[in-house]
Amino acid sequence: MPIFTPGRRWQPPFYPFKKEPFGARLLAGIEKMVKGPLFGCRMCGNCLLQETAFICPMECPKGIRNGPCGGSTEEHCYVDETRPCIWYKIYDRAFKMGREEYLLEVLPPLDWNKVGTETWGDVIQQVRKVGTKKVVTGLLSKDPAQRAIVWDSVFKPVRQPDWWQGDAEYHPPMYTEPISELERRLKAGEFVVTSEVAPPMTVSTGKLLSNIELIKPYVAAINFTDSPSATPRMSSWACSVMAVQAGAEPVMQIAARDRTRVGLQAEVLGANALGVRNILCLSGDSMRMAPDPRGRMDVVDIDSIQMIWILRRMRDEGKYLDGRAIKFPPKIFIGAAASPYASEPRFQAIREHKK
Ligand code: SF4
Repeated sequence: MPIFTPGRRWQPPFYPFKKEPFGARLLAGIEKMVKGPLFGCRMCGNCLLQETAFICPMECPKGIRNGPCGGSTEEHCYVDETRPCIWYKIYDRAFKMGREEYLLEVLPPLDWNKVGTETWGDVIQQVRKVGTKKVVTGLLSKDPAQRAIVWDSVFKPVRQPDWWQGDAEYHPPMYTEPISELERRLKAGEFVVTSEVAPPMTVSTGKLLSNIELIKPYVAAINFTDSPSATPRMSSWACSVMAVQAGAEPVMQIAARDRTRVGLQAEVLGANALGVRNILCLSGDSMRMAPDPRGRMDVVDIDSIQMIWILRRMRDEGKYLDGRAIKFPPKIFIGAAASPYASEPRFQAIREHKK
């Protein structure tokens, strides 16, 4: 016990602490001893090394687990300019190793119940499930295809838990009729223009409504930003609802930076019930760009690709992330942003393809 403060002495910051059984703690200790020096492991408990060319992605200060964000450059990470973007390193090595197809898989957010614990226990369990002999002979096989199958039979269930089931496939929407006018026009192959309207910095809505009226006749939809530069303004959903009431079609932007998985699902259901049909999922500018005092620099809980995956499943499968059925699922046209000039085109192409 600390001398002046009740509580545990060496709990790492941010990690939930629970006392694991001795065997699990021992395994976690060994895993840390091995993976710490080799990979700089931070014991996220949800290991992705096999998919990230054996470079730990948890070095990313934004906490992104699905590729580089739009702000980073080849030279450095834009949140911490003293270091390179770890995702560049991952993509670069993946290409050199011929493992770039692994980068297309939509990887899950952290299961925070496992943070700080070992991943090896899950791997051992999976090896037992597949059959130790089968795994050993498969991995020793001279046939690379056979080796890949066995490898995946062990590691895929570990990295893709039942509650997530991410993959690298294209999932067309489960509906045929367009959900919004913007979707209809895009599907018809029209050249479509949308315009951004910055939400007000006050509770006064006069200027916002006059801006909506001003551009409404000229655009297919109006985007409402979600606290750009990590600086608070009126919420994107409130502006979107006002646009609906004014007879305009809104695109509600959502920055992953400010959302938890619970908050995201709740907000989208509410906005959709109020008539918002178009949702644009973004990682969001880092708190690095915000005025002082700065908040957390990461995207808190989920990145933009994970947001898209969660919303797609809500819409097409009628399921919350936790698996509960949604009796009346949201009807939403889900959008993503592309940053074609953000990084090397071959890297960016993978990320946009994944979205
Ligand atoms: S992905 Fe997680 S478990 Fe794997 S090396 Fe990085 S911090 Fe450790």
